[in-house]
Amino acid sequence: MRRYSVFSLAREALRHHTGWERAWRSPDPKPGYEVVIVGAGGHGLATAYYLAKNHGVRNVAVLEKGWLGGGNTGRNTTIIRSNYLQPPSAAIFEKARALYETLSQDLNFNVMFSPRGVLMLAQTEHELRAWKRTWYANRLAGIETEMVTPARIREIVPAINLAGPRYPVLGGLWQAPGGTARHDAVAWGYARAASDMGVDIIQNCEVTGIDRDPEGVTGVRTTKGEIACRKLCIVVAGSSGVLAEMAGFRLPIESLALQALVSEPVKPAIDCVIMANTVHGYLSQSDKGEMVIGGGTDGFNNYTQRGSFHHVEETLRALIETFPMLSRLKMLRQWGGIVDMTGDRSPIIGTTPVPGIFVNCGWGTGGFKAIPGSGWACAEMVAKGTPGDLAGPFGLDRFTEGRMIDESVAAAVAH
Ligand SMILES: Cc1cc2nc3c(=O)[nH]c(=O)nc-3n(C[C@H](O)[C@H](O)[C@H](O)COP(=O)(O)OP(=O)(O)OC[C@H]3O[C@@H](n4cnc5c(N)ncnc54)[C@H](O)[C@@H]3O)c2cc1C
Repeated sequence: MRRYSVFSLAREALRHHTGWERAWRSPDPKPGYEVVIVGAGGHGLATAYYLAKNHGVRNVAVLEKGWLGGGNTGRNTTIIRSNYLQPPSAAIFEKARALYETLSQDLNFNVMFSPRGVLMLAQTEHELRAWKRTWYANRLAGIETEMVTPARIREIVPAINLAGPRYPVLGGLWQAPGGTARHDAVAWGYARAASDMGVDIIQNCEVTGIDRDPEGVTGVRTTKGEIACRKLCIVVAGSSGVLAEMAGFRLPIESLALQALVSEPVKPAIDCVIMANTVHGYLSQSDKGEMVIGGGTDGFNNYTQRGSFHHVEETLRALIETFPMLSRLKMLRQWGGIVDMTGDRSPIIGTTPVPGIFVNCGWGTGGFKAIPGSGWACAEMVAKGTPGDLAGPFGLDRFTEGRMIDESVAAAVAH
């Protein structure tokens, strides 16, 4: 595949952009592969990429029932941060954040990583104490965060109202190297680079069954026929429980719709990411000028990819006190994604009761930021057959051993 560069851009500009080749191949599935990955979201594609790049495993297929990046990866609010409380989470999220810094160069695809800073507001005394605790934990883990006063917050976000009657801003946790990236570009960049190394990405190919013999997995049944494999990695976010059932085991996952919305575009007003956990909303401004606003999950399990109207109202009602400017904006679009929630709000990356089947799921409302680190760790596990240091603590066994990695406090929003 030809590399993108300033020269290729200039050449194509002169040729009216008629000479670009397709970014990735769309092959028919082969009868079998060394590794089959189900789900062409960011995590599945990153796993395929690092399998090929770090471990030389290129006989890999990524099967996607829709179009690549059409799941949560293309539906999220793109916040990237690593200010997590527990050491295993800090390690994998910081690995991911660090990889994001050079991801565009690594993939030769502009993922528009924008380290504009992430500010998590403390709007109750309890929250202030919780963020201080996280800050201390971050310092021990070598993660760059700082506690900031209301005066400093006013400098960072002049548009904020600090003195709300219900939710006064008492302080915040600021991670300057956090930020955002373009979600589609992350999926497209990994897909293009993986395809270039020989990985087959097969879209419109739904996995409908999983076959096994006494030694383990033998292959999958799909809408494009049967595909044999001795290693199968399930990376399907909100559909994880469905795929696990096909394989004959259960996962401690609940699937819920999480939604987001954008306003009409306005001139630059907010140049960092702000998360208001107490009022249950978070926002940043896109390059086009839209306010990108995230809300909460539905209060009941479901598999819809759309939002409920009451969340829009609740999220905006809560945010308007802290950001009165939002009351003047029209909201343009809302959408939802099916998020896969675990009890301790930490992911599952591990082996399963079926030999040869691995899972990477449970990223819930916060897995976009983790894509590079998750793919790195998952690829190592699939290549070697056993999790390495990054993935090790996130195995399924933690639920039977009671070894939870409780990140509910560090979750983006209060669920
Ligand atoms: C509204 C919203 C806001 C969010 N905001 C943030 C944020 O700001 N920051 C952050 O870090 N995270 C955020 N997240 C979470 C983040 O989007 C996810 O954790 C992450 O994208 C999960 O990626 P994935 O690759 O695991 O799953 P997905 O991108 O959902 O990919 C899974 C793929 O599997 C496919 N699939 C399912 N079943 C089958 C089958 N049977 N056969 C073949 N393919 C199948 C699906 O079609 C899908 O494409 C948000 C999520 C939502 C919904």
